[in-house]
Amino acid sequence: MSRVLAVTNQKGGVGKTTTVVNVAASLNELGKRVLLVDLDPQGNATTGSGIDKSALASSVYHVLLEQTSIQEARVRSPSGGYDVLPANRELAGAEVELVDGEYREYRLKNAIDAIVNDYDVVLIDCPPALNLLTINGLSAAWRVLIPMQCEYYALEGLSDLVQTIRRVRGHLNTGLEIEGLLRTMLDPRSALAQQVSAQLERHFGGKVYRTAIPRNIRLAEAPSHGLPALRYDPASKGAQAYLQLAREILERFDSGTIDL
Ligand code: ATP
Ligand code: MG
Repeated sequence: MSRVLAVTNQKGGVGKTTTVVNVAASLNELGKRVLLVDLDPQGNATTGSGIDKSALASSVYHVLLEQTSIQEARVRSPSGGYDVLPANRELAGAEVELVDGEYREYRLKNAIDAIVNDYDVVLIDCPPALNLLTINGLSAAWRVLIPMQCEYYALEGLSDLVQTIRRVRGHLNTGLEIEGLLRTMLDPRSALAQQVSAQLERHFGGKVYRTAIPRNIRLAEAPSHGLPALRYDPASKGAQAYLQLAREILERFDSGTIDL
């Protein structure tokens, strides 16, 4: 069975794209077939996968507008070994162009349904907003993976997101659940991070991945070379943490579901 995971948090800069690119590369390393869907007009997951976003013949935008098939629009990441449904700035127009569109919340789901058997895991990189693009991501997803920084306001933002997920579950995607919460950019020496981390575990229990991603400069450098960290500096703490996370994600798939 294919697992479609939406990686989302409406808060900007929490590590969504870094997570999607590095988990995709790590799962590929572990022998899994992976599709990365870039749903963000910033196109950072596309660039970070070594794909030139200014030279795309077609992209997720054309797929959402049903001008191109997903089979035609997907490309292979030369550095990561996984497939990418790429995005660029054109995608910013999709929201307006889809506003009167038929079944507009399900465009991505319908596209993914056509190729889902080609992959073991589909990872969707959502933009930092609870907009129609994110709703398309959540409607297409089997589960949600939430990256978050252990900061003072993190839990507050999380309750908005949990509410959105509940709304989507009520109206668009009845099976939707949180797969896991991922602590990103963790500084183990920060007392506040430790407190928030403990609070998270109290609130969400087993939903919090045991693996936390440390703040690591290699993870920030790798995208400018169009490389996942596993190709840029495989021994780095960041690359190894994402490899460990990929193993934990697979373990959790095998062990069945945990209800929220
Ligand atoms: P946006 O909301 O804009 O889409 P995002 O949630 O996708 O942002 P990223 O782009 O992954 O977040 O990360 C934000 C910035 O932090 C980037 O410059 C990235 O390189 C850097 N970064 C992410 N994770 C780490 C980490 N563990 N250590 C150091 N830098 C990191
Ligand atoms: Mg991003």
